[in-house]
Amino acid sequence: MTMKMMDSYNRKITYMRISITDRCNFRCQYCMPNGIKWVEHEKIMSYEEILTICKIAVEKGIVNFKVTGGEPLVRAGCLGFLRKLKQMEGVQTVTITTNGYYLAEVAEELAEIGIDGVNVSLDVLDAERFDQITGIKGGKDRVLEGIRKCMALGLKTKINAVLLKETEDQIIPLASLAKDNKIDIKFIEIMPVGYGRKTPGVSAKEALERLRTEWPDLKVATKVRGNGPAIYYESRDLIGKIGLIHAVSNPFCEDCNRVRLTSQGVLKPCLCYEAGVNLGAILRSGEGVDALREAFDRAITEKPEAHCFSHLEKMTEHKGMSEIGG
Ligand code: SAM
Ligand code: SF4
Repeated sequence: MTMKMMDSYNRKITYMRISITDRCNFRCQYCMPNGIKWVEHEKIMSYEEILTICKIAVEKGIVNFKVTGGEPLVRAGCLGFLRKLKQMEGVQTVTITTNGYYLAEVAEELAEIGIDGVNVSLDVLDAERFDQITGIKGGKDRVLEGIRKCMALGLKTKINAVLLKETEDQIIPLASLAKDNKIDIKFIEIMPVGYGRKTPGVSAKEALERLRTEWPDLKVATKVRGNGPAIYYESRDLIGKIGLIHAVSNPFCEDCNRVRLTSQGVLKPCLCYEAGVNLGAILRSGEGVDALREAFDRAITEKPEAHCFSHLEKMTEHKGMSEIGG
């Protein structure tokens, strides 16, 4: 039986981000420039374990899932997992966030599975700077090929770009992809998580000002898009929409609908705090499904009112975005 899960601040929790791996083939400067100490394989939850937790999530009214990482497409069996999740009774949407490197190879299968959306991270269109930011060589064309393929297959495709100071000049070129393509470009403020703390960024407000120099008629789109906190803008000269996430400058916590499941099975109610309920450990202890259900409720009840990105001394989460599942 599905029920609506409300947290202590009367927010309905309907969305879960699942990190299926902490591993990644990229070394983005603001995420894991030097790699990280990978979690041992045995500690990473099996797909069956994740699906068991998802079933409970659905019972609690969480019906929208985003599969992320690390890089989800580097984990063997990712597509089989997506298929099972998509077929699970009660699940409404399954989307994926990827760096796009392996996307062209799997796009057809994603379409066949019926994936509800593909978010591709792309911060820069210049090949050399792409290599420098992502720490790998020659990836830009592969990522663009993946994006093109997804669009051609009719998959709902979005680009996610982090608002980095060093790629400020890329805001208009990236947004211009929405001129001739049915694709949304979503800009997100850099969050003080992991290396993001040391990375100079641009605010969403500054980005909007810059965007308005090119598209002065940009106005807030009437239709809500996606499960997230982005505010979308439209212009008569753009086919796609431009999203802005004021993650730091203008918190959207009062409307937060999400929880996060790490690759080790910790259900985290908020990105800012280390607190979480270790569902993976409960599952492996054999305590049974009721113990899992109770733990799930606890995580949601303990969801804090707001993040603390503007009071960094209160932040207790010190892991990087790739470990938490950004
Ligand atoms: N590897 C996949 C990817 O890059 O899309 C999925 C995981 S990655 C951690 C998810 C998203 O988080 C990416 O769009 C990435 O750019 C973003 N990200 C990483 N660190 C961030 C930070 N400190 N602030 C804001 N976004 C960040
Ligand atoms: Fe990998 Fe995504 Fe982090 Fe880049 S942002 S290093 S692609 S997990």
